[in-house]
Amino acid sequence: MKKVRLLRGSVFTIAIILLFATLTGCQVQEQEKLTAVSFTEVTIADDFWAPRLETNRKVTIAYDFEKCEQTGRIDNFAKAGGLMEGEFEGIYFNDSDLYKVIEGAAYSLKIHPDPELEKYVDGVIGKIAAAQWEDGYLYTFYSLPQRQPEKRWTDVRNKHELYCSGHFFEAAVAYYQATGKREILDVAIRLADCIESVFGPGKKHDVPGHEEIEIGLVKLYGVTGEKRYLVLAKFFLDERGRANGRKIYGDYCQDHEPVVEQDAAVGHAVRAGYLYSGMADVAALTSDADYVEALGRIWQDVVSKKMYITGGIGARGGGESFGEDYELPNATAYCETCAAIANAMWNHRMSLLHGDAKYIDVLERVIYNGFLSGISLSGNKFFYPNPLASDGKYQRSPWFGCACCPTNIVRFMPSLPGYAYAQQADNVYVNLFIAGSAAIRIGQNTVGLQQQTRYPWDGDVRITVEPEHSGQFTVCVRIPGWAQNSPVPSDLYSYPDKSREKVSLKVNGNPVALDIVKGYARIRRTWEKGDAIELNLPMPIRRVQAHQKVKDNRGRTAVERGPVVYCFEGADNPKGVANLILPPDAKLQSEYHDNLLGGIVTITGRGQIRQAQQDGKKVVEDIDVVAIPYYAWAHRGKNEMAVWMPKSAEVEN
Ligand SMILES: [Zn+2]
Repeated sequence: MKKVRLLRGSVFTIAIILLFATLTGCQVQEQEKLTAVSFTEVTIADDFWAPRLETNRKVTIAYDFEKCEQTGRIDNFAKAGGLMEGEFEGIYFNDSDLYKVIEGAAYSLKIHPDPELEKYVDGVIGKIAAAQWEDGYLYTFYSLPQRQPEKRWTDVRNKHELYCSGHFFEAAVAYYQATGKREILDVAIRLADCIESVFGPGKKHDVPGHEEIEIGLVKLYGVTGEKRYLVLAKFFLDERGRANGRKIYGDYCQDHEPVVEQDAAVGHAVRAGYLYSGMADVAALTSDADYVEALGRIWQDVVSKKMYITGGIGARGGGESFGEDYELPNATAYCETCAAIANAMWNHRMSLLHGDAKYIDVLERVIYNGFLSGISLSGNKFFYPNPLASDGKYQRSPWFGCACCPTNIVRFMPSLPGYAYAQQADNVYVNLFIAGSAAIRIGQNTVGLQQQTRYPWDGDVRITVEPEHSGQFTVCVRIPGWAQNSPVPSDLYSYPDKSREKVSLKVNGNPVALDIVKGYARIRRTWEKGDAIELNLPMPIRRVQAHQKVKDNRGRTAVERGPVVYCFEGADNPKGVANLILPPDAKLQSEYHDNLLGGIVTITGRGQIRQAQQDGKKVVEDIDVVAIPYYAWAHRGKNEMAVWMPKSAEVEN
């Protein structure tokens, strides 16, 4: 008896300690958490991103809608809604593509009202609403040629009903917030209620084979305040890796073990990125310490062993998946554009959870490189994989049967301003350097920030602080890892030559000592209207080396300048790229060209080339070499391309 009582006593004590630990953990988490400054409060007025956002608005949105029309993606809804005759056309998850284009159009409409576009989207939404079943179910593939109720939710591993629903929730929330029109939101609520009536504790235990609904449900919770949606998102996350009366789907779907026990990125890279983003969303709202810890372990695994220098993830085409540790081949690099977007989304959420600039370092690497390569300057050609080397046969395509990438770009691009700033209490965070302005509410004060910079071509950034009333607060200016001799927050990539040029910071012309906390230089003072911060980030040309365990990059070097990764393309190197060599002592210069590829800084120098002689022997000759930003390649016909160059003739091609 005594033993039992003791045991009970200790269980009670442990429970109290655990509760206390959870609560205190909770409070710390709450205090640290950052909020992104909404894209609606940020204006981009630079020469780099503004034209791209404009192209997305004027070209890509209309182009993607047109493609959705041509490929039957919109007609599928009309048919399912009884508005026209016909069978299902395309791939079973095509609904999701249309949803993503609506989401992109919504972000665009919020900034640039466009009655014609809005009218068009309203028409599309009418067709979607018509396709919804009486109980809220919405998925055209099981609605044609007639409704097939017996098939619903029978294969959520492969058929992507839940994945499509997640994208629909994101689109619905975005469109409702942009226009105030409820129709799409009401359709989303009915669909969420339908799903919630089927899945959950005591109901059906299953998980989507392709994550995404978790992100969508959290957004729907955000706009409706309906807690059941958050609970359902957490249910789908917590069910992963647990065989509660169902078959486990394995690591391809990150369903190999419970998410809180996972410590490595495995399987399909886009699914993984969406899973981690969804976990970060739920962690931000519930302060779930186990989620936060698991995310920290997985993130460390990715940035230390599984990320390309471009910020791309997912090395393998087979399974569109992560490879083994340090498996980062160049020519066969998969690096799906969607995976880059997922990596950016995840890292942004991590930066808000922890207030640490190292996550923005990864995000920045993605947006200037592995994401941006996914879309042509013209806004209507796309990469699905983004390899780091090419034999000259690879080009952007006008569309894909599986069109996830073009429709992901169209929604991610206009959301970019929302990644630039964040805030927490009276701390204002400047994450990205993009000329333009932002308005940030601090207590009773509205603080305007004006950025002037030619970033990413120049590291001079002037930030004018315009508080409504003068007041004390902290401006936290991100000092990028690349400006501190650390291209990535791990030892996966490094600069062999340490730069001696130092970052400098001034306020109203007076030098300020760098007080760097978690990657941000903190400047706390009483700010007056017109106070100016001047940041100088020296931008020398840097050579990069990969960890020795990355066998494909042994003896090779890559070139960066600021946040931009460079590549060598045949168009600029007429004797081809395959035999070029970039010796470590080759002097390199940078120069801005206004009329080349939308305005770029090129890097030129004297390298070498291996040439075969008539007797079969190879000789090495000096040659001029030219590098351009990686994102800008494949605009001038079919060309060889390489990011990682041999340092000497001994390195095999
Ligand atoms: Zn994709």
